[in-house]
Amino acid sequence: MSRRPVTELAADGLPPLRAVIEEHGLAARKSLGQNFLLDLNLTGRIARTAGDLGRYTVIEVGPGPGGLTRALLTHGAKRVIAIERDERCLPALAQIAAHYPGRLEIVQGDALTTDFEALASTVPTRIVANLPYNVGTELLTGWLEAEPWPPYYDSLTLMFQREVAERIVAAPGHSAYGRLGVLSGWRTHASIAFDVPPQAFWPPPKVTSSVVHLEPRREPLNARAEAISRVTRHAFGQRRKMLRQSLKPLGGATLLDKAGIDGTRRAETLTIDEFCRLANSL
Ligand code: SAM
Repeated sequence: MSRRPVTELAADGLPPLRAVIEEHGLAARKSLGQNFLLDLNLTGRIARTAGDLGRYTVIEVGPGPGGLTRALLTHGAKRVIAIERDERCLPALAQIAAHYPGRLEIVQGDALTTDFEALASTVPTRIVANLPYNVGTELLTGWLEAEPWPPYYDSLTLMFQREVAERIVAAPGHSAYGRLGVLSGWRTHASIAFDVPPQAFWPPPKVTSSVVHLEPRREPLNARAEAISRVTRHAFGQRRKMLRQSLKPLGGATLLDKAGIDGTRRAETLTIDEFCRLANSL
């Protein structure tokens, strides 16, 4: 019986991802949201969704064993800066960096405390990531609330759990419409590019995932980031209550009158323009 030699390489000239994971002992850790993509066709599709990468520095959060990182590089990213918290992944990532001299920089650290704008410097930047599910929304919120606007990045191409993706693109009145939908719609054009089934990952998560692509509005709806952040936090913090109740800490009826919004309405019925009016009335 013939066995496939372990040295057989993938199309990019590097070892297959399963072999990389085995060689470096990268057993997935749940606490780090580790669900690795092993299919280079799929990671290629994510890289293509990000658009033309030839003149871009791509910032990737959580490269893990490097499946998406490799796709970004083979799809022509000028440079990739990858931020990884798990130091066990560093030797595998170093192999990729050696394969693409001068094009991959690895930063070991926590993306939640990383200054992305400083990493981007002044070069055209796109952010692409298969995000750890436990910090994904916090990272997205930070990117959406960036100041000044338009931001330092030209697009975000991000994998989330399908349920989170639906919240990002939800319109007013939809059950998934909430703080994330307001912040995304206020500052970006966001759409779900495609779904990814659990079996595409190792280990497979319990739910379907989706890739979301967000492009910053060049002329965002007018509201200060800090104000819209505060208003949406209160309004959706008690989403079943009338706004005159949920917005009491911010002025309640007085604030709503100033913004010309009926205080008996609930947060999920307000358009993004109306949230901007509330924010501007604070
Ligand atoms: N990009 C790889 C892929 O697609 O196969 C791995 C994606 S996995 C869903 C998430 C990755 O983010 C893991 O490698 C994990 O170690 C890393 N990670 C988790 N929390 C992080 C944090 N706070 N900062 C940076 N990386 C983090």
